[in-house]
Parts: sequence; structure tokens; C-alpha cells
Amino acid sequence: MHIETEKNPNLPLIDGHAHLNELEELEEDLKEARRRGILAIIGVGMCLESNRRVLAIGEENPGFVFPAIGYHPWEIRKPEIRENLAFIEENVERCVAIGEVGLDYKAKVEKALQREVFQELVEVSVRYDKPLILHCRYSHQRVFSMISDMAVKKAVFHWYSGSLEILDQIVGAGYFISATPAAAYSREHQAAISKTPLERLLLETDSPVEYQGERSGPADVVRTLEAVAMIKGITKDQVAQITTRNARQLLELESNHWPTQAP
Ligand SMILES: [Zn+2]
Repeated sequence: MHIETEKNPNLPLIDGHAHLNELEELEEDLKEARRRGILAIIGVGMCLESNRRVLAIGEENPGFVFPAIGYHPWEIRKPEIRENLAFIEENVERCVAIGEVGLDYKAKVEKALQREVFQELVEVSVRYDKPLILHCRYSHQRVFSMISDMAVKKAVFHWYSGSLEILDQIVGAGYFISATPAAAYSREHQAAISKTPLERLLLETDSPVEYQGERSGPADVVRTLEAVAMIKGITKDQVAQITTRNARQLLELESNHWPTQAP
């Protein structure tokens, strides 16, 4: 697998979802990503502290790391809600998206409280016209209804492994899903990727999540690429071109570090 990718070190890829603040060797990992030809990384936040960090990493890596700030359902604590939401609204214009946000019905945080917070975040997304990067667990239908009821135009269902019926609604509404390296082995994730048109797909790593016992970094978006190309039965080059174009258009990414022929 390694040798194969070495032949094509410059496929233009974008890692659409990475927890950069959680990487132990951030500088090394960013260097490795650049070496592998990765054009951009979307750094996502989950709480006040990670949001601040992601904004700083974005500033330190202009045109390469693009920040998204969010409030993850796992992080919701009643006394901290106002402060978190206020921070997001104050800084949303420095970001390419709002994320990671959503609903997690397996989490301990009360569902009604999660929905209240998420509803406010959806409203911020509409008010500032920023895409949502969504986490859903046992909550895909609810998240879909909440965003479509609010006429959200741009959203990515990150690491989608939910039902194929809801996936039809997601794709039909013009929303995206993103694929992780779990595309190499997760049946549910593979089924979703297989059914989603390439024009509605982004690549990501959710790093530093471990896949089959190995900690990931943004450069592992190459593994996502390989798995998606295999599932779709098309070349890695086609997958790279289209998913990168999708990410650039959806998130309105611009950089003067990119080669002029970037998709
Ligand atoms: Zn994540």
C-alpha cells in the first residue's frame, strides 16, 4: 500500500475533518501531510479550549489549515453552554465551517439539552451562511430534520454510517457525507460510500482516531482515498479530483500555496 501511494505523491487531497489539537506530534504530522501533497486540512473544534487551539493552528498555517469551530454533544455541560455558544458566534467569521456539532444519542448528555444547543448552532450556521460539520450517533433522522427544517444549505455528515434510507434524503437535499479510513473495513461505512455519488463525497481522517489499532494523522487521508477508489471501482486520481473540488466549493477554500492546476 505504501509503495503504491509513493508513485503518486501529489494527488491533491483535502482532509475534511481532523482534531489537530489532539495530535501529539502536530508539527511532524503537518509536515508529513505537506510531503504527501495534501492541499488543505480542516481542523475541527469541540469545546472552548479546542476551538481556541484550532483557530491558533489555522493562523500559524495560513492557506493550509482551515479552522472550523464547534460544540460537540459530548462536551455539553449546562453551566458552560452560554460561553461556548457566544465564543462560536464571535469567531464564526474566522472559520470555514461550524463543527464538530450534532447529536449523540448514546452520550450521557440529556437529549433535549443536546437538541437545544444544536438548534442554536444550526441558527448560527444559517445566519452566517457557514456549512455544518455534523456528528450523528443514533440521531441521523433527527439531525437531518432539524437542518432541513431550518433550510440549511450546506452540511457534511461526517463519517456517515447510518441507514441508507436517510442517506437518500441527505443526498437528495444536496448535503454531503465524508469518508474516513474506516472505509477500508467498516461494512456500514462502505455501503454508505458506495451509495453516495462522488459529487456528494468528501475525504477526511477524523485524526487522531485509531483505525485497526493505528493512530491516524491528516496524511492518512491517502488511506481514505485508496479505500474510496476501491469501493467506487474508479481511479484514485478521479476520486482525488472530485472530492477535492467538492471540499473547495463547499467550504469556499482559497489558498495561494496551491498549484494553479489544483481542482
Ligand atoms: Zn471528529
